[in-house]
Formats: sequence, structure tokens, C-alpha cells
Amino acid sequence: MAIELRSDTFTKPTPGMLAAMMAAPVGDDVFGEDPSINQLEQRLATMFGMEAAIFCPTGTMTNQIAIKVHTQPGDEVICDELSHVYQYEGGGIAFNAGCSVRLLKGDRGRINAQQVEAAINPDDVHKPISRLVVLENTSNRGGGACYNFEEMLNIKEVCAAHNLAFHLDGARIWNAMVAQQETPEQYGAAFDSISVCLSKGLGTPVGSVLLGKADFIKKARRVRKVFGGGMRQAGYLAAAGLYALDHHIERLATDHHHANRIAQCLQTCSWVKAILPVDTNIVIFETQPDLTAAEIIKWLRQHNVHCLASGKYHIRMVFHLDLHEQEVDELESILPKFPYRIS
Ligand SMILES: *Cc1c(COP(=O)(O)O)cnc(C)c1O
Repeated sequence: MAIELRSDTFTKPTPGMLAAMMAAPVGDDVFGEDPSINQLEQRLATMFGMEAAIFCPTGTMTNQIAIKVHTQPGDEVICDELSHVYQYEGGGIAFNAGCSVRLLKGDRGRINAQQVEAAINPDDVHKPISRLVVLENTSNRGGGACYNFEEMLNIKEVCAAHNLAFHLDGARIWNAMVAQQETPEQYGAAFDSISVCLSKGLGTPVGSVLLGKADFIKKARRVRKVFGGGMRQAGYLAAAGLYALDHHIERLATDHHHANRIAQCLQTCSWVKAILPVDTNIVIFETQPDLTAAEIIKWLRQHNVHCLASGKYHIRMVFHLDLHEQEVDELESILPKFPYRIS
């Protein structure tokens, strides 16, 4: 079996998860009659102290629904330039919501309250109306970087003072909570809406959930239908999420430990120039200037290790529940063997 480091989306359901899926009671969710989906939505809403929740096929959909519901066409969305909502959702902010984007240069994907305040447009007919701030925690392009909770609360204050909605792309919120010892209630109290993914660190095959106030989620249900995301007996997928909430959250600390071990190993490799700080389950590092990421990735492939370039000289490795101590040991023995000579 290959050592799969391209993404934490590559995980396959465990036997326990599959058994839970097979046993799920289901119904037609567009009619609100799928008991497993209802249970997952209620459980997550309660967990985060939010009024309501809606299950969707992807995190792109939960983010895009949130942006659509919070805004009107012509409004402006404020986010970091590395944000998934801007970089990896196919221009959906413009396509789905008809909004423009104000991009901020943050620190590994994290912006601060001063930057947000400075980016808010004055009440001037020439300017788009600043309407929504989107944060991402952990930051994907930022190499799994975690926000300091105080900074998120400072941004919340700015949003409240200027009547802006505040959305969190929490695709990897579970990693952040485990690494920073935060609670879901803290997040529920800080944001107007939160998107959480079940198909990354938590290891389900499909699924994300959007959380918010009851009237917001009511509107989200209409938009989900418009986007083609109203599914029928999808309780089989929700059951995987319920199983993951019981079994796969605490174990994320193991992924973080594995990421740290490999970062330390890379530090000893002569072909590596620099490593980004490792906060959670993602390691991003830079190759020496006479080596491209593509050359390294090709060599790693020959050694049965799969990883992705995140730039011409940058490589990304993501740790997840299908990588055990044994694979990490193996990786530690492979990485130092790359035949690099300083020319
Ligand atoms: C993966 C991811 C998403 C959602 O991706 P889907 O593949 O659409 O589920 C959203 N935001 C971030 C930061 C992600 O890493």
C-alpha cells in the first residue's frame, strides 16, 4: 500500500464506520424525514451551541451557501488571499453570490482585526458594500496554521461594529480544537455561521455541515436545493459522520504527532531548505533551490510515497487516520535517502 500524503481526503471508511453506515435508519431528507441526517444536524447544532444545522455533500457547498445567504449581489466579501473560498471554489463567490472579494495578506492564511477594519469600505456609492468576513481555521494553504482565539474574537468585534456577517470555514476546525484545546461552544458563540467537514480529519467518505441561526439555516435549505444539493436517503452518509464524532476526534492528536515527527526528520535532510511551522496535521516544506518539488515528488512516487506540490519548490504532506506508526516509521527511513549532492 502506498503512503498517501496528498490529502486527508484520501481516508477510507473503517470497518466500524461501514457497519454504522449499513445499520443507519434513512428517509427522504428533502422532506426532512431522514432520521440519521436529523440526528447529525441536531447533534452538531447542540455541540456548537447553535440553533440549527444542514448536511451537505461538500465543504465547498456549505461555504458557498453561507456566502450566498449572508450577501446580496454586488456586496463584498473580506478574506485572506490564501482562503479556500477564494482559491479553490471555482470563483463561486462571483458565480453563485455575485459578490466581489477583498483579499488580505495574512500570516499563513490568518488575518487580523486591524486588517479587516482597514478593508471595510466607507458608505460611498462608488464602493461595494462590505458585507461578510470569512476566516479559515485551520488554514489549508497556511500549512494547517491555527488562529489565536483572541484574534478571532477581535475580528468578531469589528464585524459587530460594522454590521458585517462572520463566517468560519472550519473544514479542519477539529484539528484546531484538538491542537489548541478549544471547545465547539466557543466557536458557536464567536461566528454567525460555521462550515465543518466530516470527510477530512474525521475520515467519512462524504459530507459537510453548515451551522447557524434557525432563520439562516432555513434560507440555506432553499439555496442547497437550488445548488442541487438536496439529497434523499443520505442518512447512510450522516451515519458515518455520527460514528466519526464518537470515534475520530481525539485521535487527531496522533496525526499532529506524526506531522511533527516528519517535520523533525525533514530538518535532517540535506535536500530540504526550510520547513513551515507545524501546528496540526499538515507539513509544508521548501526544497533546495537546485531541486524542484516535481523531482522530489517523482522520486518519492518510486518509493511508494504520494505527495503534492504546493508551488515550484514547495511540497505538502498531510497526515490522517489511514497513516499509522508503521507508515510514519517507513517514511522516516525513506526521506533521508534522497540522493542529493550539493553542487
Ligand atoms: C477541503 C476544504 C474545503 C471543502 O472542500 P470539499 O472538497 O468541497 O469538501 C473547504 N475549505 C477548506 C479550507 C478545505 O481544506
